[in-house]
Amino acid sequence: MERRPTFAEVDLGALNRNLRTVRKLFPHKGIIAIVKADAYGHGLISISKELENAGADYLGAGFLEEGVALREAGIKLPILVLGGVAGFQIDYFLEYDLELTASSHFIVNEIDRRARRMGRCAKVHLKIDTGLNRIGVNYRRALEFLETAAALPFIQVKGIYSHLAKANTDADFTQVQYRRLADLREPVQRIFGEKIPFHLLNSAGMLNFPKGAFEFVRPGLLLYGMRPDMSYLERAPVEPVMSLKSEVVFIKRVPPNEGISYDLTYTTDRLTTIATIPIGYGDGCLQRLSNCGKVLIGGKRYPIAGKVCMDQIMVDVSDDRVRIGEEAVVIGSQGDERITVEEICELTGALPYEVTIGITGRVPRLYLGD
Ligand SMILES: *Cc1c(COP(=O)(O)O)cnc(C)c1O
Repeated sequence: MERRPTFAEVDLGALNRNLRTVRKLFPHKGIIAIVKADAYGHGLISISKELENAGADYLGAGFLEEGVALREAGIKLPILVLGGVAGFQIDYFLEYDLELTASSHFIVNEIDRRARRMGRCAKVHLKIDTGLNRIGVNYRRALEFLETAAALPFIQVKGIYSHLAKANTDADFTQVQYRRLADLREPVQRIFGEKIPFHLLNSAGMLNFPKGAFEFVRPGLLLYGMRPDMSYLERAPVEPVMSLKSEVVFIKRVPPNEGISYDLTYTTDRLTTIATIPIGYGDGCLQRLSNCGKVLIGGKRYPIAGKVCMDQIMVDVSDDRVRIGEEAVVIGSQGDERITVEEICELTGALPYEVTIGITGRVPRLYLGD
């Protein structure tokens, strides 16, 4: 069977170039490429294999099962699982050679106990809470935590890290968090008797506060060619990786004063042509794009007319000649025009993560090689 006309195109060449751009910006740092949430909707395994071939140093998964899926697909890179760990999961981390985030005294002791029983050493990153108040040991009690971890024989500390709370909006608070983590450098050296790598920066941190890089950076958004918001367009020379495409399946002429789509919230003010595209919120075309989103057809921008339906949208193409089967782009470029994820965020208030992660499982991913 031929695939449906609606699909997401994933440009692996662009992913490669974005990784290279990040390398250029942080030439002596390790890169933990973040692939959680199905690589932000781009496809966990395809993206991770490409990142491995392109020379990423580490992958960052969201939780245990994502890490297991990477190992089962044959990924050999070190994998850090960013989320918290429940006791019963620890054996699987060890079995699949996944690096754990230890975010409390209790869990680091539990990891040691289970690792001892399995006769293995657990690779652990110690999570310090420097202000986000999500997971991790509060920076004020970090010394005791570091001493505990250092004394456990089956714990191998591979990293010490924290996560930024206001990377996008408040350089002063980022500086405060940086300082809280940096203050642990000297004690770590003393307690462990060796240099343990530190990491702090996500994409927004990398753009706003590059001096906070320590030994590793943890980009997600930048690798996928997205920026935290529109204000970064000039500063981050990355290319979008994902496009969302469909085609015109139905065309009609509609007289003035007709309502379009559910609740008839769009009214034609003249005789016009309405094209129907088989993509809707069931595919991840946000309902908030109703009456404000744009679609590219024939290299021109046209407004979404009326509410986004589950499976379809209508587009007002005015008196332009549009053909059945013509390509319609919801995210991506066509001719000289482009609709970016950042633009959709601006219109809807969504986060860039939500837009690509929201492209649902029924939309096939088509990979363009590099
Ligand atoms: C998701 C995540 C990142 C990557 O964030 P971006 O904003 O996509 O760069 C980095 N670190 C941690 C702990 C994360 O959870």
